[in-house]
Amino acid sequence: MRVYNTLTGRVEEFKPLKSGEVRMYVCGPTTYDYSHIGHARAYICFDVMRRWLEYRGYRVKLIVNITDIDDKVVRRAAELGKDPIELSRYYEKAYMQDMDALYVKRADLYPRVTEHIPDIIKAVEKLIEKGYAYATPKGNVYFAVRKFKEYGKLSKQSIEDIVAGARVEPGEDKRSPEDFALWKAAKPGEPSWPSPWGPGRPGWHIECSVMSMKYLGETLDIHGGGQDLIFPHHENEIAQSEALTGKPFSRYWVHNGLVTVKGQEMSKSLKNFTTIREALARYDPRAIRLFALSAHYRSPLEFSFSKLDEASRSLERLIVAARLLREAYQRAEPCRSLEELAAREENSRELLAAVEDARRGFEEAMDSDFNTPEAIAAVFKLVKAVFKLASQKGGVSSYAALKALELLEDFSKVMGIPLEELKPAGEELSRVVESILELREEARREKNWKLADSIREALRKAGVEVEDTPEGPRWRVRAAHSPTPQAT
Ligand SMILES: [Zn+2]
Repeated sequence: MRVYNTLTGRVEEFKPLKSGEVRMYVCGPTTYDYSHIGHARAYICFDVMRRWLEYRGYRVKLIVNITDIDDKVVRRAAELGKDPIELSRYYEKAYMQDMDALYVKRADLYPRVTEHIPDIIKAVEKLIEKGYAYATPKGNVYFAVRKFKEYGKLSKQSIEDIVAGARVEPGEDKRSPEDFALWKAAKPGEPSWPSPWGPGRPGWHIECSVMSMKYLGETLDIHGGGQDLIFPHHENEIAQSEALTGKPFSRYWVHNGLVTVKGQEMSKSLKNFTTIREALARYDPRAIRLFALSAHYRSPLEFSFSKLDEASRSLERLIVAARLLREAYQRAEPCRSLEELAAREENSRELLAAVEDARRGFEEAMDSDFNTPEAIAAVFKLVKAVFKLASQKGGVSSYAALKALELLEDFSKVMGIPLEELKPAGEELSRVVESILELREEARREKNWKLADSIREALRKAGVEVEDTPEGPRWRVRAAHSPTPQAT
């Protein structure tokens, strides 16, 4: 299994510190607002990595932190006239609901910054003791970047580049512009905790060093986050952690690409975002996952509603293929002629060959730096074969259907896309659709094809797909359950 490591800039053989065990840390949400599709993509990608590692037999311990106090939380709470911690708890709950709705498996632990203040103070004290940090008369503590000789190794920048780009914010009293805050002296009206340097709160970066090492040990196997976190956040995490322990902080640094809208990063500040909630109101969560996994995790992912529509159609094909296989497995009818038997054998052979190809393609793609678009493509080739063979004369054998179904189930587990039928319609809707379909059947009996077709088209526009089968019409609600709006 090979993984791209931002630290070395290469795809490397994956080898955790302890065999069979993966200790993984992913930078979590800052809980000051609802999460958007950019966040969804990141957590879905890391969720699939974890699921793949588990599929390959590793025991994975995953920690995702909750940044429940920082500048953004304090600012938003002040704007709304709310208590920052209360605000944080509200959005933390919303984040958990969003992740659950998107089938993101829960991490083993979600440590909060405000519950680790003594650990953070201890780490800052040790950094001062070791000469990597200094306290100022105002009660701030800064990390002295030049003391850490390897600073810049993750983001591949020289210290000169970093100094040139560094700024001193108003109120900061650091010795050098490139230094960063470990502890911030309290400002009036802001939440604060007592410390040896006076009341204050932690800087942003120190929490991840402290909480990851507390729960996973001094050297992690995988540290993940968005590419926008490489500098300064992860660079600073490395400096703090390695200054503290003298050991490599993480063996692999894994970064996901950003979600873009018309080429620009989806972000709160550009106001070009779609929240996870907005997307979930209109799309099946599994379609959102398929969309999120449709690009390699390191590439940017361009967002549009038409792409979600496309993902919804793919999801439908997947679900219907699984249904066809289940039906073929459970009630493969006996062949009534030698000709039919020969056809079934031929179809089954073809299906089994497609299963083998799909499994190889799927596993190779995932082993090769979690290449989800290739893995999806491999499995959808099988889906195509299922549509062709299951409806052909003779159909397929129970055995071939079972083998194909097993592969779809493995795919489903790894991608976090359950194969259950699409959102069932409520009872009322069912009654309405059934009575419309009765009228359509009447039109068909009278050979009024034009009317029958317009009824079908009208239902389609309303999100109900009708399929005519030998046993009569069959209908389902589409995965995208409302029409696409004009603007993206
Ligand atoms: Zn972090």
